[in-house]
Amino acid sequence: MRIMQCWDDGDVDDIRLVEILKKHGAKATFNICPGGIKSERRVAHHFGGKYDVYRLTLDEMPEVYAGFCIGGHTMTHPLLSLIDPDWALTELAACKKYIANHFGQSDCGMAYPCGRYDDAVKELVRQAGYLYARTVENADLKLNTDDPMALHTNCHFLAPDFWEKFEAVKAIDGDFYFWGHAFELMGDDDRWRELDAMIGRLTDDPATEWIDVRDLFMNHGRAGKNG
Ligand SMILES: [Zn+2]
Repeated sequence: MRIMQCWDDGDVDDIRLVEILKKHGAKATFNICPGGIKSERRVAHHFGGKYDVYRLTLDEMPEVYAGFCIGGHTMTHPLLSLIDPDWALTELAACKKYIANHFGQSDCGMAYPCGRYDDAVKELVRQAGYLYARTVENADLKLNTDDPMALHTNCHFLAPDFWEKFEAVKAIDGDFYFWGHAFELMGDDDRWRELDAMIGRLTDDPATEWIDVRDLFMNHGRAGKNG
């Protein structure tokens, strides 16, 4: 079975996450909003009422994400279904261009900020040239790759039934895909350890191979377990 993960927003906690992923040799896609500040970290929002969530600077991102797949998350994280279509298209196209120019990845997907989209937004994403766009909805057992501009995941990484879903997908040798934000682990070392164990278990399962989400939509063939 092929397994995939993606992480949104480009927050500073991705540094700790990347260490875990590298330790286990796990592939991942990071969906970034490059409309930020070049050399100074900024607070994007607060988590759990007490933690400041900082975004990585544009200068930091290439090093932090070296070796990983990058996806778009628009430039400034607007709710795309609520803004003017011209603005939405600019957000999408500029983000895609940034990823091509700064990460050398011209084929990429994106994730909808806060999962907000509609049919018109899907068309804009297609126009901007993305391979796929990820929602925050859950797929049934099988991923809905026949609707790439509204690609669901199997679940969020903190879903209580995560392993149940994983085992169900494994039973049909399907594709398993989960998502999250590293900031959701802020201030909780136990949860970080659980994530470490989770990535380890996924990697060590003889039935799995990590792929990048975009591989679903490109003619790469199957990536090897260690390649
Ligand atoms: Zn987001």
